Amino acid sequence: MNQSNGALKDILRKEGLRYTNQRQSIWDEIRSNHDHRDAEDIYISIRNNGVNVSRATVYRTIDVLVKNRFVRKMDLGEGRFRYEPRLDDKHHDHMVCEETGDIIEYFNQELEDLQEKIANEFGYTVVRHVHQLFVKPLKK
Ligand SMILES: [Zn+2]
Repeated sequence: MNQSNGALKDILRKEGLRYTNQRQSIWDEIRSNHDHRDAEDIYISIRNNGVNVSRATVYRTIDVLVKNRFVRKMDLGEGRFRYEPRLDDKHHDHMVCEETGDIIEYFNQELEDLQEKIANEFGYTVVRHVHQLFVKPLKK
């Protein structure tokens, strides 16, 4: 999907929401940054940019962006969700360091193939998967 401003207008219309500069700036804020942030981080950073938008509008718009695959929503087991843009949607998985909180992105084709092979053995094909590793630094 092409995630231009036109596409944002289309999904907002589909969801029965008006296209506004505030909603545009929410999407701009998320796609400007490849970090894995929670909704509150995103809200604060939009407010810090001087955009006058309510927390409810930010949260609601994020949900719409997730539903329409502009944004990926992740549960890293912290009791809150994190979000990242899905612009150049190259699939990757995440590794979370339990000591530093760092989130590392990785992709491994062998692992992808192995997951498909396992699903096939059970008579299925993989539609999507969530693969997360919880790690700590190697002691040297
Ligand atoms: Zn990521």
